[in-house]
Amino acid sequence: MGLQVRFLAVAALATISQASPLLLSRDDSSSNITYAFTNPNGLNFTQMNPSLPNVTIFATGGTIAGSADDNTATTGYQAGALGIQTLIDAVPEMLDVANVAGVQIANVGSPDVSSSILLEMAHRLNKVVCDDPSMAGAVVTHGTDTLEETAFFLDATVTCGKPIVIVGAMRPATAISADGPYNLLQSVTVAGSKEAKNRGALVVMNDRIASAYYVSKTNANTMDTFRAVEMGYLGAIVSNMPYFFYPPVLPTGKTAVDVTNVTSIPRVDILYSYQDMTNDTLFDAVENGAKGVVIAGSGAGSVNSAFSSAIAELITEESIPIVRSTRTGNGEVPYSESGDISSGFLNPAKSRILLGLLLSKGKGFEDIREAFGKVAV
Ligand code: ASP
Repeated sequence: MGLQVRFLAVAALATISQASPLLLSRDDSSSNITYAFTNPNGLNFTQMNPSLPNVTIFATGGTIAGSADDNTATTGYQAGALGIQTLIDAVPEMLDVANVAGVQIANVGSPDVSSSILLEMAHRLNKVVCDDPSMAGAVVTHGTDTLEETAFFLDATVTCGKPIVIVGAMRPATAISADGPYNLLQSVTVAGSKEAKNRGALVVMNDRIASAYYVSKTNANTMDTFRAVEMGYLGAIVSNMPYFFYPPVLPTGKTAVDVTNVTSIPRVDILYSYQDMTNDTLFDAVENGAKGVVIAGSGAGSVNSAFSSAIAELITEESIPIVRSTRTGNGEVPYSESGDISSGFLNPAKSRILLGLLLSKGKGFEDIREAFGKVAV
């Protein structure tokens, strides 16, 4: 497909789908598709080449499926405007590296990805990818703003060693030099690669492969935004060939959570520490239904003295798990044997996901302290 045709394929469908939190079984927005093969889980493949790996692409929306009126716009556009089949059609090169099936899980900007969407995704990935020996791996297309939360959630809840690759884009599909198409091709390639197995979930963007456990969005605008500053990347992709710097390994102290029977994730709030921070934010959070709280502390988890006393009161009187993380973006909050729970090397967003998952399994205060303590000095 030439560049112009490719742009038209994207542009023609730009107005079709509206952002919607509905869970869709697959993308029906693209007409005239002939499927070559439907597997027992109902996944439709446009080709079934036996010499290629089978990869399912779960689409959730975001900038990678975004559309703007102006091809120089990298802000203020509509995220989640294009359906999964449109994204697949725009990158026919992926059919040289894998047989792909698309599933539209949602079509939203990533701030609207909810814990019910995450649970639905984990359940489906475990069923149609992990439990199906014919599937090599999966790709999840996602907005970049909260991508690190979804990546961490799937890393903890997908029960097999097959590569689950989360991918996004910083430029909408309609922009000059959109990064989505190549990011998508690279992520499908990694998801189909044997070398990518047993490394936990992965984030592939901008020619880099990162561990979902630690990677974060570090810049609001640029394409090299996904980094794990202390831990680095797992590998690179050159001319669409993945290269891993190390053999397969999982992050130290990672907690896996079986969500097979989990139907909802309890509410966990994040509170940001600052000078003059007041205690009512903490009491309000709990009064309004938070079952756990993460503090984005200044430095290594610090808060002012009055707030510290409020934390102690809630822990002693209500047994509310309150995790101290850091607002600095890097470094750790070291393990403490009593009092509050320390986040170790997990940032506030990832700490919130882990705390919610542990609460969903009915874990108590000390089990939660122990789980976070495995990621800490
Ligand atoms: N606001 C968008 C989102 O997270 C940004 C992006 O995808 O890059 O959905």
